[in-house]
Amino acid sequence: MRKIEHIGIAVKNINDANHLYEKLLGTKAYKQEIVESENVTTSFFRVGPNKIELVAGQGGDAISKFIEKRGEGIHHIAFDVPDIKAEMVRLKAEGFTLLSDEPKKGADNKWVCFVHPKTTGGVLVELCQEISTT
Ligand code: ZN
Repeated sequence: MRKIEHIGIAVKNINDANHLYEKLLGTKAYKQEIVESENVTTSFFRVGPNKIELVAGQGGDAISKFIEKRGEGIHHIAFDVPDIKAEMVRLKAEGFTLLSDEPKKGADNKWVCFVHPKTTGGVLVELCQEISTT
């Protein structure tokens, strides 16, 4: 893994959260996007070299369930990987449980795969690989 790609924060209402984070970070979200594969709305902020992703559910999705159980807050840490399939094979062999067998199309032009928090000491980990446009 090369670096932390972003930190994901679960929020109830994307517009309220955008407003709050604009004030907090002193910058506007550079992107807002619906992720069909997860039934969520996301927005992204840049903080220097780092990124924050706000994620709101649309009902019946993993984010809505997370907020019901644990409230709003830090939801996942995403790592940038050069080859997501190779990383999935490596992690499986190391005994981690992946939440999908194949990479899914995630937000912000990425292939993504999540690692079950039961196998990572309680932290939901996301693998991200930039989808090449060439
Ligand atoms: Zn994410």
